[in-house]
Amino acid sequence: MANGSFKKKGSAQGGANPNPKVLVAGWIGSMVLVALVTVLVTYNFSDDGSEADAGAPEQVTQSQPDRDVVESSADTQIESSEATDDAQVAANEPAPEPEQPQFMPDLQLIGRQGIVPLAGANMPPSDVVAGWCRDLAARVDGVDTSDCMSGAFADSGHKSVNGRALVMRKIEPSKQQAGSGRVLLIAATHGDELSSVGTVFSWMNIMADKGTPYAWQVAPVLNPDGLFHEPPTRVNANGVDLNRNLPTAGWDKESRDYWRRVGFEKRRFPGESAGSEPENKWLAEQIREFKPDVIISLHAPYGLLDYDGDFPAPRKMGSLNLHRLGVYPGSLGNYASRMQGIPVITVELDNADEAPGEQEIAQMFTDLNAWLDRYFRSVRQASAGNGAAEAG
Ligand SMILES: [Zn+2]
Repeated sequence: MANGSFKKKGSAQGGANPNPKVLVAGWIGSMVLVALVTVLVTYNFSDDGSEADAGAPEQVTQSQPDRDVVESSADTQIESSEATDDAQVAANEPAPEPEQPQFMPDLQLIGRQGIVPLAGANMPPSDVVAGWCRDLAARVDGVDTSDCMSGAFADSGHKSVNGRALVMRKIEPSKQQAGSGRVLLIAATHGDELSSVGTVFSWMNIMADKGTPYAWQVAPVLNPDGLFHEPPTRVNANGVDLNRNLPTAGWDKESRDYWRRVGFEKRRFPGESAGSEPENKWLAEQIREFKPDVIISLHAPYGLLDYDGDFPAPRKMGSLNLHRLGVYPGSLGNYASRMQGIPVITVELDNADEAPGEQEIAQMFTDLNAWLDRYFRSVRQASAGNGAAEAG
């Protein structure tokens, strides 16, 4: 941990330096905006309805955003020309760098209108995400602050019991290998299983390097209050085991029976009512809105692979072997697989603190992707056939 905080300090300083890619994106953005304002101004002066889409009803509803673009582009143009003048006056000094925050919102606005693609990976993280990254890097081995900050994470807007941000990341399929599969990846449902977070970050790095055929939504820390508690706790800040609290069928009775069976063990308290916890409301919303085809949830330290679903289970992931545990009242396997038909792979790493070695992590991800490939091929074949075949 001492080593971790030293590393954090260095990374934070590195993260404060201007990112050359962002600056290049800013300059490109400024050039595009100048070109755009020229085009728009031209249209305004020759606004006789001759434009192809001018008569379409959509044009009316789009007029406000268009005006925003013109206004912000005009500002940008003025600043750009001022910068050029300054550079001419003081020839020995480089032109002032455009300030990122003034350019980025414009790029985003234009991107939404389909004129310029979003420079998503180069967007600076929000303060919330930057703070989340710094805290996480100080806490979890295998998380690097600057990697995290350049990882296009987003504040979901949801908060934990103690008001910590619940942060996620979307990873799009690489164009050349795009398929239709959607995968939800979750870690640290139990806050004291830190190795799950480091493993997920390593997998995200592999995807950043090699691409992926699938659309991923990644929630690396479902239970930040547990993770950042000193010492970390399995339960959330309300003392609830999130993996016993999801609103499964018969929860009211079954969760009480379960709670009694485990001797009222505090670590496994299912909560006062089904789905009561804000972290689980966020999880349920992700399932509802992202509509994953498969869910992968990382835990520790049982050193095995658990699976809930109809499609044949993965036999092995790295050194972990399949060992089905069954489902519990309020567990994710029960909630997503039994109730909604979404296969759930539960990865139980063999150590809760230290993530597996680099090779093991890579092998696990290779094996996982091989299973995903089999699964999605089967789904495609089933939907291309008579629709009677079962897959998940
Ligand atoms: Zn766990």
